[in-house]
Amino acid sequence: MIDVLWILTVFWVALICIFILLFVLFSIREGEKRATSAGAMALVFLVALEMGLFYLKRTWGFSDLVGVALLLGGVAATYGGLFLVVRRTPPNTRALQGTQGYILGEVKRFDEREQVFARNRSLPPNSEQYRVFYREHPHLEAFDAKRRQMGGPLGSIGKIDSPHEVPNAAATFSTFSIPQYLGPVEISQPRAHPLFGERHVAMSPEEASTRVKGFARHLGADLVGIARLNSNWVYSRRGEIFYEDWDQWGTEIRVNHPYAIVFAMEMAQEMVVMYMGKVVEKASAVGVFYEAQHPYTRALLKSIPHVGKRSGERLASIEGMVPDPFNLPSGCVFHPRCPEYMPGKCDRLVPSWTQVGRDHWARCLLYEEV
Ligand code: SF4
Repeated sequence: MIDVLWILTVFWVALICIFILLFVLFSIREGEKRATSAGAMALVFLVALEMGLFYLKRTWGFSDLVGVALLLGGVAATYGGLFLVVRRTPPNTRALQGTQGYILGEVKRFDEREQVFARNRSLPPNSEQYRVFYREHPHLEAFDAKRRQMGGPLGSIGKIDSPHEVPNAAATFSTFSIPQYLGPVEISQPRAHPLFGERHVAMSPEEASTRVKGFARHLGADLVGIARLNSNWVYSRRGEIFYEDWDQWGTEIRVNHPYAIVFAMEMAQEMVVMYMGKVVEKASAVGVFYEAQHPYTRALLKSIPHVGKRSGERLASIEGMVPDPFNLPSGCVFHPRCPEYMPGKCDRLVPSWTQVGRDHWARCLLYEEV
């Protein structure tokens, strides 16, 4: 019994080691650094486990109750380790706090076509897309050309990655989840739906708007809005892991409208608020949102719509009109509209910078000793 258990354990651990070794070798060949390091870590762990098992077998023999417990513990540790490597990671709660989150490490622009899989499939040599991409990424051209010639398991369609492995990043989480928030399951998994290809899911603009805002709130986004698309950018498809087609990964999306819904998250550590072309308050994003000091900033924050506000309820607005830029008011230019206006002071004196908190500055006479 003990011998059978021992052989099975060693066999399985060795099999998994071989599988992961192949994965690491392919990842190195593909130049995919993240996959290589994750695979190498798993390999080191498993090889160490296998060696440990052999050592214990030699010294203890697994012949008594303690030995059997150790053997079973080794099996549990193997599968536990594997589970930790491949588990679906939960959303990053700190990142999802929005303005209270922090950007850690280097922030890098990401282009879907920079993934080797996308490049391999969607940049046929001599095409216009090929020329545009490699003009921007000349260092990748020779590597990719060699790779295409080699072919191999990763060259055929649909053999890599899994739809269950989601990197633990709020932004990726958001793109992955948008269909689920904007529509019922037949949208997020269209192939699974019996009416795929025939059904159009109708949604009123109000319903769509509520879902978009609810989703923004769920992410802890700092800002959600409609932005004009930049015609110089290329919008590309994201491959099967996002319920799209492998063949199309990285191919250009031709957009027939000029707008996009934009979520801005973890936008900035530092923010400034401007009125009539002048900065009136500067602080961290958290400082501006939660400890605004300038009356103009406070008024602006009151005018932001909130999800869950009763329909028909009016948003707060700032009294008065924006002044004529060629005929600005005397003193503080905000004074004709300021709810905290101090007669004889705000209309005569131009406020200068005053420190109102740690790394927090405002141009307002409320805080100036004059
Ligand atoms: S200086 Fe006076 S008018 Fe200007 S923002 Fe401050 S309180 Fe308002």
